[in-house]
Amino acid sequence: MHEASLVQNIFDILESKFTEEELETLESIDLQVGLLSNVEPLLMKSAFEAVKSSIDKYQDVKLNMEVVDVEIFCDNCDTNSTINNYKFACAHCGQPNNNVIKGMELLIKRVHFSGEQEVTGLT
Ligand SMILES: [Zn+2]
Repeated sequence: MHEASLVQNIFDILESKFTEEELETLESIDLQVGLLSNVEPLLMKSAFEAVKSSIDKYQDVKLNMEVVDVEIFCDNCDTNSTINNYKFACAHCGQPNNNVIKGMELLIKRVHFSGEQEVTGLT
């Protein structure tokens, strides 16, 4: 249960950044999950449900996940391209390439509190 420790880690980060009072009004957490991050969104969701059901103040918190595509950088063309179907090659020159610059992240992109307050870029 790799995802369970990731979820625990997310709550640890939130608890280190916000006060108990603020966390009482937490409504949702937006994650960015890279396709190469080794995180399975469905498992993440069920791990999240399991962790939050054991903590009263998080009963109504929602988890949103945005999947981030894999991008590579090609030295030849000096450009980035998006990878489809795990075909690691430059979209412009076709050269095989695994110089991944995006898609490995697991980030807390944004958290919402009731009363419209939101905080971005936590990790
Ligand atoms: Zn290229």
